Amino acid sequence: MATKDIQVFGAGLSGLVSAINLAREGHHVTVYEKEKKIGGDLNCHPSIHMTPMHLQQMERYIGIELHSCFSKVQDFRGYIGPKKYIFSTKNLYVVERGPRPSSLDYFLYTTALDEGVTFEFSHSLTREKLRSIPDHSIIATAGYSRIVHALHLPYVTFKQFDMHLQTDHENVCLAYFGDFTSDYGYISMKNGLLSAQLSGPVNLSLERVHTFTNLVRETEGIELEKWSSIVSYFPKKARLFTKFAGKTFVLAGDVAGFLDPFFGFGVNGALLSGKIAAISIQSKQKALQEFKQFTSHLNKDLLVHTIYWHLPLKKLVLSQVMKFQDNHFSLVKRSIPGFTDEDWLKIISIKD
Ligand SMILES: Cc1cc2nc3c(=O)[nH]c(=O)nc-3n(C[C@H](O)[C@H](O)[C@H](O)COP(=O)(O)OP(=O)(O)OC[C@H]3O[C@@H](n4cnc5c(N)ncnc54)[C@H](O)[C@@H]3O)c2cc1C
Repeated sequence: MATKDIQVFGAGLSGLVSAINLAREGHHVTVYEKEKKIGGDLNCHPSIHMTPMHLQQMERYIGIELHSCFSKVQDFRGYIGPKKYIFSTKNLYVVERGPRPSSLDYFLYTTALDEGVTFEFSHSLTREKLRSIPDHSIIATAGYSRIVHALHLPYVTFKQFDMHLQTDHENVCLAYFGDFTSDYGYISMKNGLLSAQLSGPVNLSLERVHTFTNLVRETEGIELEKWSSIVSYFPKKARLFTKFAGKTFVLAGDVAGFLDPFFGFGVNGALLSGKIAAISIQSKQKALQEFKQFTSHLNKDLLVHTIYWHLPLKKLVLSQVMKFQDNHFSLVKRSIPGFTDEDWLKIISIKD
């Protein structure tokens, strides 16, 4: 295969996985990242993400050993309003994100350096630069970049509040559903770090954040403070390629719509889609085949999510769905790229 010069934009999960795979195939790969160093936007990182995952299958698929970064979730509690639920932790992992050496981003970055990938930091892809970058560049700039807008990809805008603090608890996750948001609030703990996130419509107010903060204090005795916020663009459609100014770009990660619309699980999809973006440089057809396999239900579910966002009485709808989840959760259970119905059902099965 001929050696190519390949440009990847965004040094996050999908960008790094594609860079590592392409460098291993002998290509000259340069990753352009808007931040000054690895670890993404400091408004939302360092953070701890929770993700459903088949770790070994994932390692095999993307060709990278990840297990030093992921820990199994030990305890996963949730609240719908004040009512407490204990969730199954099967197939659930926590992983650190951001700039610290203990993060997945840092691990993938050092792996990429070892493979000979070149990095250019403080280099932001903009609408103007989109015109001059080469055909078949890989765009992996995630949903909190205006690139989604510049590429004319249909999206829903939403707001995320994030904070982190130190903790003694490890591998614990908490999820909160209630009137304070149409999405949910969650907390994850690993590597001595607790991170909390509340997301919802773009008009999600600080008052709602205070309601969530109070609920967490009352239920778990945790004091959340010093929130920062970002606006994200959630694609309404999963797609691998997009055309711009007569060129074709390869999309990876969130910007490719490769994430579960209901709970925002994006780690799984970002890792998978980084590999698929790399495959596309050699074979467009094979990459499209893989992309379709992993996203077969996603486009419908992205649409359902958009409708769900505008539903009144979400808490009521959600508690009914939880009650009858064995029979009625079919809309949600398929939407994590790489997961079958059965796997997803095991994850959401409620013990009590
Ligand atoms: C605070 C937060 C909490 C989350 N929690 C979870 C969770 O618990 N579980 C889960 O599965 N998913 C979670 N997600 C979603 C998950 O992080 C994403 O789906 C995943 O990281 C997407 O990978 P990516 O490669 O698309 O983008 P990222 O890994 O986010 O990387 C994008 C990179 O592109 C860079 N970039 C952005 N714009 C530009 C530009 N214009 N030019 C150059 N570089 C640019 C960014 O700085 C960043 O380094 C969370 C997201 C956030 C923000």
